Amino acid sequence: MREEGSNMYSIEGKLQRSIPLASKTECDADRMVYHRRDIHDTLKEYATRVNGFGEPAEILTSSCVLVCDLDAGIVTLKDGSMIEGDVIIGADGAEVEAGHSWTSKGDLETLLEEYKDFPAWATGPFRLAKDDIGLRKLRNTKPLEMWHRGRVIFIGDAAHAMLPTQG
Ligand SMILES: Cc1cc2nc3c(=O)[nH]c(=O)nc-3n(C[C@H](O)[C@H](O)[C@H](O)COP(=O)(O)OP(=O)(O)OC[C@H]3O[C@@H](n4cnc5c(N)ncnc54)[C@H](O)[C@@H]3O)c2cc1C
Repeated sequence: MREEGSNMYSIEGKLQRSIPLASKTECDADRMVYHRRDIHDTLKEYATRVNGFGEPAEILTSSCVLVCDLDAGIVTLKDGSMIEGDVIIGADGAEVEAGHSWTSKGDLETLLEEYKDFPAWATGPFRLAKDDIGLRKLRNTKPLEMWHRGRVIFIGDAAHAMLPTQG
């Protein structure tokens, strides 16, 4: 989806301000927005494609990595099995780097109280969440000195976590 800008509304639902995105003039390109699931599906399709580059990747789910030998390129999974590779790409997100959880459980009552001045069309989607509501903290992390060591390279949030507001 092409992102063209943002609109701001009053709590009565009246348009207050429209801010067009200047990406076309500043970057000579449109800013595109994708649903995360579509990106995951596309990456998975490319990685597992039979007629793609090299052997199709095998995807192992529910496979928690306990230890990684950086120089030998061997990861040990929670079930004790070991996997060796020429290159290990570490993409285990920001939580592990920070060493503690960024999420905790929220509740619908508190959420609706916080947004009580907002119109029903804005708070309506909250009610669909029922009690499945998570709180996420915004935190800074220290930049890593390097994103690779031995046979391992870090990508994504494990290397350079971003605030959700920068998405
Ligand atoms: C509330 C919120 C809203 C956001 N909104 C946006 C947005 O609108 N747009 C945007 O571009 N970005 C957004 N972001 C940022 C975006 O989510 C992250 O930048 C992105 O998910 C990072 O992807 P990743 O694959 O590096 O890490 P993650 O998505 O964190 O994935 C890491 C994965 O590694 C797994 N893992 C961790 N440890 C191990 C282990 N030992 N063994 C095996 N697996 C492990 C985890 O279970 C997880 O599945 C948002 C973030 C938050 C918190």
